[in-house]
Amino acid sequence: MSPDDLPPPRDASGGPAPDDSIPASARWIHRVLLLGLVAVYFFLSYCILRALLGSVGGSFGTIAKALLATAAMGAFIVWAVPLAEVPQIVFRHLLPQRRARRGRCPHCGYDRRDRACPECGFAGAAPGPWQLGWSTVRRFGVVLLVGFLLGAVTGEVWTSLDERRFAAESVGRPAHVRPRAWPADFANLAWDPRTGVSAVDPFQSPRIEGWRPKDRSSPPSAPVAEGSAAASSRGDSGP
Ligand SMILES: [Zn+2]
Repeated sequence: MSPDDLPPPRDASGGPAPDDSIPASARWIHRVLLLGLVAVYFFLSYCILRALLGSVGGSFGTIAKALLATAAMGAFIVWAVPLAEVPQIVFRHLLPQRRARRGRCPHCGYDRRDRACPECGFAGAAPGPWQLGWSTVRRFGVVLLVGFLLGAVTGEVWTSLDERRFAAESVGRPAHVRPRAWPADFANLAWDPRTGVSAVDPFQSPRIEGWRPKDRSSPPSAPVAEGSAAASSRGDSGP
């Protein structure tokens, strides 16, 4: 346990400094949960942004762009910085303060009133409110970095495995499309027997009549209402 994990408790009247440690189980549960949450956030971001880029294959350019865009998504979770110190907030501030309000020892909870604690010897006052500090930002930075790496690597593996699966199951079949794997199932992968796998512009649904993979005409599989057909052909030409 590093000394930085154990800031001395407010020991106003100079009693023996108690070992105010946070239970190891609480530390580990918190670490795993927070890291998991951040990694899942970056995994979802990576998969979605990689599909939005509209290209297939793990080329350097595609991966670099997806990584940059995913890293930028980190800006949306900076509000979660205090989550990095939930165990400290609970075990070093909230619980001792609650014990002190009830006339008990802030450290061990023994009924001590205003004297030094006969149980653990702690004579200090309850700690003040938790404050955001550099240690919080540093802890969160580490979680953010590790979670980003975990999420982005998993996202790239997930996405490229799906692209390979699509290529493998498409061999010998006529041109067709299918959605990408969750969470990027809003975007489609297209198969062309001559050119192989390509990504469909995610904002252009192949279910709309008028969509053609690589200029090859394919008959629409279902009749489409005239209004949406007109809308899609207008969309094709683009403003
Ligand atoms: Zn005590």
